Amino acid sequence: MLSQVVELIENKQKFGITTHIKPDGDGVGSSLGLCWLLRSLGKTAEVIVRGEVPASYRSLPGADEIRDVESIDRNYDAIFVIECSNLERPGIKGLDSEFTVNIDHHATSEHFGTINWIDSTASAVGEMIYNLCKAIGGRVTKEIAECVYMALVTDTGSFHFSNTTDRTLKVASELVKAGVKPAEISEAVYNNYPWSRIELMRQVLDTVKRDGTGTVAYMRQTLAMRAQAGAVDGDNNGFVNIPLAAREISAVVYMREVGANVYRVSLRSKGNINVARVAEKFGGGGHRNAAGLTVEGDWDEKERELVAAVSAAVEISRDPSIHATEQPAFE
Ligand code: 5GP
Ligand code: MN
Repeated sequence: MLSQVVELIENKQKFGITTHIKPDGDGVGSSLGLCWLLRSLGKTAEVIVRGEVPASYRSLPGADEIRDVESIDRNYDAIFVIECSNLERPGIKGLDSEFTVNIDHHATSEHFGTINWIDSTASAVGEMIYNLCKAIGGRVTKEIAECVYMALVTDTGSFHFSNTTDRTLKVASELVKAGVKPAEISEAVYNNYPWSRIELMRQVLDTVKRDGTGTVAYMRQTLAMRAQAGAVDGDNNGFVNIPLAAREISAVVYMREVGANVYRVSLRSKGNINVARVAEKFGGGGHRNAAGLTVEGDWDEKERELVAAVSAAVEISRDPSIHATEQPAFE
């Protein structure tokens, strides 16, 4: 919990910080925000990530110092693990023999850390880093503010999603007071893709269909499309949300081919339709309105199963009197 994290920081000196492989804006922003906070408190801290930092986040202060490591190669008093459901998610060897601090806002966290601080009411881990800064009596520097703002803006879909609360907006306001220029961050994230994104989008949207009820949209991305578009990781960020723009659509199933008969699946929904429950049935997880999973097998068959399960979730949400036990808790 938070008090243990504060005590640890006060008593130790050298910290590593990591997040999941292919990090998103919350992963990178929260890690760097925490790094700047620790440094402002006179500590030694660095961010280590397996693989490249996506281009959208490279303009953040400190992003150019992030080290790509395969295994733990330095001595740390503790390593913060940001936004990971388990110790395998960072893709870095040797974490299991370290003192780890699990900081996450997913209720499904496996509590793998030596210390675990999980706050499923936080819109992003970034919000938690801001709270940590306040709890430890730190000053919200411009660097901290920019990194934490990146986390908030990306995890809330620019303050659109249902995880946006009064606290999220209050924190965002404080960050702007501390020097963040919201338009600059939005430009860096949303208007900074290579043209390959548009090529890929065109092809993926060409596959979009609706289920029999017309409320569930589903679409596909093949490896061939990626190759044809010359796509890079991150080019498809947010594609899954596009069909939600239609009034008729309540949920989306977006399947991406990642290997022979292996597909990454993103699920999105509106309102109280719980796609996390659907994802869990297929071995994945996530939040009520945004969840994911990996499936293997015949593409058409898996697509039919997923679309049917999501259609059922839409039905359940329309008639709360039936299947009351399946009704989602807010996550
Ligand atoms: P995305 O569609 O953006 O990949 O994932 C949406 C959300 O679903 C993520 O924030 C994450 O919480 C969750 N998620 C995605 N894939 C998986 C998965 O394979 N397992 C679990 N437990 N959660 C996932
Ligand atoms: Mn997050």
